[in-house]
Amino acid sequence: MLGIAQDGGHPQTGCIADCCEAAWSDAEQAHLVSCLAVLDGDRRWLLDCTPDIREQLRLAGGPPLDGILLTHAHMGHYTGLLQLGPEAWAPTGVDVHVMPGMRAFLQGNDPWSSLMSEGHVVLRDLAADRRVSLTEQVRITPWLVPHRGPWTETVAFTIQGPSRRVLFVPDIDRWEDWDRALPEILQDLDVAYVDGSFFDMGELGRRDRAEILHPLVRETMDLLQDQPDEVRSRIRFLHLNHTNPLLRPGSSAWQEVHDRGFRVAEEGEEVEL
Ligand SMILES: [Zn+2]
Ligand SMILES: [Zn+2]
Repeated sequence: MLGIAQDGGHPQTGCIADCCEAAWSDAEQAHLVSCLAVLDGDRRWLLDCTPDIREQLRLAGGPPLDGILLTHAHMGHYTGLLQLGPEAWAPTGVDVHVMPGMRAFLQGNDPWSSLMSEGHVVLRDLAADRRVSLTEQVRITPWLVPHRGPWTETVAFTIQGPSRRVLFVPDIDRWEDWDRALPEILQDLDVAYVDGSFFDMGELGRRDRAEILHPLVRETMDLLQDQPDEVRSRIRFLHLNHTNPLLRPGSSAWQEVHDRGFRVAEEGEEVEL
């Protein structure tokens, strides 16, 4: 687990409010943008390519980097690709696994298209619900999820190892709009990293619930509250907006999440697959 913040990171550019103040002066309280690494021996992949890839590739033990899998074309999820360009790292032939809309977007727009034409990136095709073997032991499957976005589709990823299965769904508009039911799929998962962008409406000022295209953490907890302890504890919230009190361990919101049997993802934690 290499990052738990929403696209803009924590602290966020331009924010000098209470939510970011301590994180500006104390790097220990800052957070990188949501990202997972998948490791098998000395091979490594990144799930999403965030603006923090510089640190995240090192945290994952790279280089080298065997590949990247992208969920969608919002800023926190793919713009780290610029670090693979000629002004920076400029590797040769890094596999970037993409859905069809993402492929069209990257090929059709600079500066992304030059990453391919100059050979730094090789696009590999993903298809919804089709399993891809990264190694003999690790398989990844993209699942389409409803998520606002004018440029590309959005996917979640399941990561299947020899004995455990993990879900990574950093962005989704609403659980109810999905063709999968979270309480059901959770039965077949060991860990689920899920969109926890906002804790509740309290951090959103006067905005209307209908404008917020994310499940609130409290709504997700309510949806799952009848599940057994063992199932609730599989949930780990991430993709936390800079305003989210879950970024402060020990806050009353953070305590509520743990008291109700759920967890907040922690940078540096590992799940044995
Ligand atoms: Zn996002
Ligand atoms: Zn997004």
